[in-house]
Amino acid sequence: MDFSVEPEFQAKLDWMDTFIREEVEPLDLVFPGQAYGTPDERLRKIVDPLKEQVRAQGLWACHLGSELGGQGFGQLRLALMNELIGRSTWAPVIFGCQAPDTGNAEIIAMYGTAAQKERYLRPLLDGEVFSAYSMTEPQGGSDPRLFTMSAARDGEEWVLDGEKYFTSNAHNAAFFIVMAVTDPEAHPYKRMSMFLVPSDTPGVEIVRNIGTMGDRSGHHAHLRYTGVRVGVDALLGEEGGAFAVAQARLGGGRVHHAMRTVAAVKKAFDMMCERALSRATHDGVLAGKQLVQAAIADSYLQIQQFRLLVLHTAWLIDQSSTREARTQIAACKVAAARVFHDVVYRAMHLHGALGVSNDTPLARLWQAAPLMGIMDGPTEVHQASIARRVLKDYSPAPGLWPTEYLPDKIAAARAKYADI
Ligand SMILES: Cc1cc2nc3c(=O)[nH]c(=O)nc-3n(C[C@H](O)[C@H](O)[C@H](O)COP(=O)(O)OP(=O)(O)OC[C@H]3O[C@@H](n4cnc5c(N)ncnc54)[C@H](O)[C@@H]3O)c2cc1C
Repeated sequence: MDFSVEPEFQAKLDWMDTFIREEVEPLDLVFPGQAYGTPDERLRKIVDPLKEQVRAQGLWACHLGSELGGQGFGQLRLALMNELIGRSTWAPVIFGCQAPDTGNAEIIAMYGTAAQKERYLRPLLDGEVFSAYSMTEPQGGSDPRLFTMSAARDGEEWVLDGEKYFTSNAHNAAFFIVMAVTDPEAHPYKRMSMFLVPSDTPGVEIVRNIGTMGDRSGHHAHLRYTGVRVGVDALLGEEGGAFAVAQARLGGGRVHHAMRTVAAVKKAFDMMCERALSRATHDGVLAGKQLVQAAIADSYLQIQQFRLLVLHTAWLIDQSSTREARTQIAACKVAAARVFHDVVYRAMHLHGALGVSNDTPLARLWQAAPLMGIMDGPTEVHQASIARRVLKDYSPAPGLWPTEYLPDKIAAARAKYADI
């Protein structure tokens, strides 16, 4: 398994590294929190030429495979790109690969009709619009069998009724991808269908935009759909096929998020190392203290393990599919939340008061730590799914004792050599 890339692509990565540091990261400082909004004229003057440079390099919207009309770089190269893109909140937008639009684009490309691709995918990939993914409901998120939002057929239309919770970036979205129950009597995994709903459809209402972790700006919508009518052509994929679509979407989304997390933890780690070498207290620099060295070593180890897991998962997807790699993707999801939490905490702690102040990126990163283990499904649900699939390769011991029970094994070994 070789994670290196040919010199031409390495040159692209080198270009990206410099471009993001010099041209994109400054946007995080001057226009914080504005990356996922429709830019005004002033912002367009700055942002559009940057997007043009990315397009000129052939690096725009690289998340889609060639069979889906994308660049076809594959997940491994995408992982290497995301290790750079994840440094900045603006970079995913400048490179046309921001969540949740990447996952949404993927499923429209996979399941959409030609007309749906023209209407929704093209403007999404061109960076003209944003989209949102409306799956979680107020009464249940991690168990989709609890969803009640309904879609009933009425002639040539579907009528959607119900509520959705935590639909990220709904207030900027041109359309939503909505999961709704179309056959309550069907098998639990065949009850729901996926719909494409323009956000200005009558009956769609943002009840409230919900903020997280003390941030009052509110990027996650509580949505109400009341008698929302869409044509039969709004169905994305098969009727009753929402689970398959959701799995395809969340699989890709989770691994892309893990790739960007590598970048974020590396940033925190770089800060930790610089600080350890710079700050002197109690008779020497922090880097000389064994407990600090342990924090640095543990962080290094966790990042290396996590990065290799992500690269291996990306490689595996390239060899097979997102579906085949779902155990590894779930592992990336669990690991991302843990590594992010541990490394960002250590980096922040090592900076003392400065670390918890608003004067470094660390406090902002830390605010995201608890979100990581919840969004795209809580850690426990992914742990359960990893264990379920791993255990398929095992069987119960044939008798009372484990197969490695030494008294039985020694007796068997002695019997084997009894004649010698
Ligand atoms: C920042 C952020 C962005 C989000 N964006 C979107 C979005 O764009 N669209 C969307 O549809 N949703 C979105 N969500 C919602 C997210 O998908 C759900 O929050 C998530 O699936 C968990 O659902 P829940 O909040 O209802 O928690 P619950 O399902 O109520 O779970 C709560 C807790 O119970 C425990 N738990 C749950 N199941 C198990 C289990 N099987 N075993 C053991 N313990 C368990 C876990 O500790 C879990 O954290 C977002 C959430 C966050 C935080």
